[in-house]
Parts: sequence; C-alpha cells; structure tokens
Amino acid sequence: MIPGAFEYHRPETLGEATGLLSQLGDSARVLAGGHSLIPMMKLRMAAPEHLIDLAAIADLRGIAVGDDIRIGAMVTQAELIAHDGLAAACPLLREAALQIADPQVRYVGTVGGNVANGDPGNDMPGLMQCLGARYSLAGPGGTREVAARDFYISAYETARADDEILTGILVPHPAPGTGYAYEKQKRKIGDYATAAAAVTIGRNGASVAMTNLADRPIWSEAAGKALAAGDAAGAVAAALAEIDPGDDNRGPAEFKRHVAGVMLRRAIDRARARMG
Ligand code: FAD
Repeated sequence: MIPGAFEYHRPETLGEATGLLSQLGDSARVLAGGHSLIPMMKLRMAAPEHLIDLAAIADLRGIAVGDDIRIGAMVTQAELIAHDGLAAACPLLREAALQIADPQVRYVGTVGGNVANGDPGNDMPGLMQCLGARYSLAGPGGTREVAARDFYISAYETARADDEILTGILVPHPAPGTGYAYEKQKRKIGDYATAAAAVTIGRNGASVAMTNLADRPIWSEAAGKALAAGDAAGAVAAALAEIDPGDDNRGPAEFKRHVAGVMLRRAIDRARARMG
C-alpha cells in the first residue's frame, strides 16, 4: 500500500528539529528508522502531512559508557548489539535487542524509536523499565528526564509531549554480579512477543518487567520485591496479577497468561544462574 502525501524535512540540529515540530504541530511526526511509522502510514493508520527525519542530527547518535550508560536516540538496534563496551557493562541490553524482529529491521530500527513509539509490542520499553532507565526529552521549553517506569500511559500514549523529541536513554550500571535475562516467546522469527519477561537480580534487589501483556509495558514492583526475598513463585504470581492481556491473533488471553508465567519463570531461573 502507498502512504498519503507528506512533506519531508531533514534538519541538521536538534534546535531546528524541535523548532519545526512546534511550528508544524499536530500535522508533523518525527521519523527515525521508519520501521514502525512507515508501515502505519502505508496502512493509513497514520497520515502525517510532514515528516521530520532525525537522521542528520549528529547529537542523537552514539553510545557512551561512563558514570551512566548513554544511548543516543538514533542508535540502531544493530549498533547497540555490536557495541562491545555496552555488552560488557549491561549484557541484558544486547540479549533483548537480539530478540527484536530480524537483522534487516535491526539495521534500521532505532533504540529511540522503539522506546518512544508507545507500542506495547515493542521489546525495549519493558527492558528499560526493568533496568531503571531514564529518557532525555528536548522541547521548546528546554530539556527534561522521565523515568521509563513513568513514561508509558496506554497504547501509543506516553509522557512525551507532541513537541518534544526523545534525545537519548540513560541506563544506570547494574551492580557487579547482577544476574539478568530476557525471555521472549514469539510465533516465528521476526515476530513481536506473545509474551516476554525481563529480569535482573542483584544483591541490592530485583526487577521484573513484562512485554505485550497489557496496553503498556508492565514493571511489577511487587514481583521485584518477592524475587529479592527469594520467592520466585510469589514473583510470578505478583507479575501475573498486574498483566491484562487481550485476545488476538497471538492467542486468547488465557494462553498468553500461561505463556507469560512460563517466560517469567525461565527468566528468573536464568537470571539466578548468572548471578555473580
Ligand atoms: P520510527 O518507525 O521512525 O518511529 C516510531 C514512532 O516513534 C513514530 O511515531 C515516531 O514519530 C516516534 N519517534 C521515533 N523516534 C523518536 C524520537 N527520537 N523522539 C520522539 N519520537 C520518536 N519491535 C520490537 O520491539 N520487537 C519486535 O519483535 C519487532 N518486530 C518487528 C518486525 C517487523 C517486520 C517490523 C517492520 C518491525 C518490528 N519491530 C519490532 C519494530 C521495530 O523495532 C521498529 O524499528 C521500532 O519499533 C521503531 O523504531 P524506528 O526507529 O523504526 O522508529
């Protein structure tokens, strides 16, 4: 299918991009890798009159492993996977990114697009919630940070204002010896999750998040607390009490609830086995 007509903009600085976004208002959308937005436009589920391509903005690129880990919004999923320093500092990021779609999508799809999109099927939002990441946003009024755990409101509705651009993601270093796992069940290679679970367990606590099991990613504080106390069954029960899957072509809600429990139990077992 063919998308509706649109005007293409390619700003070279963040200031130009936020300026265009405020000036053009509701009629404009930013374009990152285009692997969620362009299919939506082809299906005519999105019909922006202006696309503001972020590809030429150097400030949105790059990965820096310092006091925090900073991932620029326009870093592709493939760049994230290939970055050795990042894989050493936070291996869960790489493990989850490798389960997104297929190499073709990962060469173009960006980390910023994945977390800003607001699609409950995206893998990185739950992952970022599990890791306690923060998102940097820039708009006409300046910059601000929002915790990933506070960012997702409902499907395609996030804390990002229409005139803000997500510029990067800040991930705290996991404590030494932290066990981690991302477990995802999908119908075939390249598919979104039927159910997925992200888990970290360290000496200072545990964290649990679930993907594609509600209208937003679910970070379960109660599951993390149960897991930190050594109660894996309690953690699974607590997380399952917070999800709200629906029936669709990936199966009925009851089946997804079952798969969610299996994925989370596997993630817990693997994370525990990896604790240092
Ligand atoms: P785009 O499509 O360009 O943008 C997506 C949305 O986010 C748009 O509304 C855009 O305006 C907004 N946006 C993008 N960047 C910013 C920014 N910096 N600031 C503010 N708003 C922004 N994803 C998964 O997680 N798991 C999967 O298993 C998976 N499977 C896929 C399979 C196929 C066949 C395809 C085509 C895609 C799949 N995806 C999957 C989606 C893919 O990962 C996308 O690349 C990702 O969801 C969006 O990233 P993007 O860079 O392509 O963003």
